Amino acid sequence: MANYGNDTQDKNGNMEDIWYRRRREMVDKQLIPRGIKDRAVLRSMMEVPRHEFVPDGEKRFAYRDGPLPIGLGQTISQPYIVALMAQAAKLTPDSCVLEIGTGSGYSAAVLSRIVETVYTVERHRKLAERARRIFDRLNYSNIKVHIGDGTKGWPEKMLFDRIIITARTPVVPQALVEQLAPGGYMVVPVGDEVFQTLFQFYKKEDGSLVKKDLGTVRFVPLVWEDGCPDPNSGL
Ligand code: SAH
Repeated sequence: MANYGNDTQDKNGNMEDIWYRRRREMVDKQLIPRGIKDRAVLRSMMEVPRHEFVPDGEKRFAYRDGPLPIGLGQTISQPYIVALMAQAAKLTPDSCVLEIGTGSGYSAAVLSRIVETVYTVERHRKLAERARRIFDRLNYSNIKVHIGDGTKGWPEKMLFDRIIITARTPVVPQALVEQLAPGGYMVVPVGDEVFQTLFQFYKKEDGSLVKKDLGTVRFVPLVWEDGCPDPNSGL
């Protein structure tokens, strides 16, 4: 079996060991066969304790091949989708990443083990604060959480190398297109309730975008607090 790093688990048959085995199974059965091959992504999926991010009542399902409810009508994404988005973002260790939709905090945690800094925005205070507490407990100190409307981008004027939106939207928010650095990638599910396509956008040095279709997905909606522009006017 391939080694994705971090094999230094204790072998006492305790709970940590069981979670570790479940993560290995998740990587071997859900991710690799579906084409996840970025070593850094696989290593991070092996490392991040997904069970810490799911609600107590759902812990036994933490490594299941699907999304799980996290309260307030929101979900923690299926492990494969988290890995697919991370892989499609073409992360490098020095990337500065913006995520919209912190939710449980799990995908931000996965990103944070691969890149320098993760900025993540969540509109539900309760979820954002819960995620912050988990990051503190795990000592994931390179994640900054902002509570607010992510369709407006990160509140300070900044450029990000990578942007990942973990909620579906009919239109890619213009503020996010503007905050994507030239040479950067954005990964976002675009569509309506019924049909959504995961897209990777690459921003060329001249500012134009190159779009790649990554397949059909299903996400909870991105909420546009000031209303969503007409889908025919956007990307
Ligand atoms: N990345 C998450 C999954 C998030 S589900 C995880 O790993 O658990 C999508 C999240 O986007 C929800 O928590 C929802 O509240 C949040 N969201 C929806 N619209 C938003 C907006 N405009 N700004 C910030 N967060 C938003």
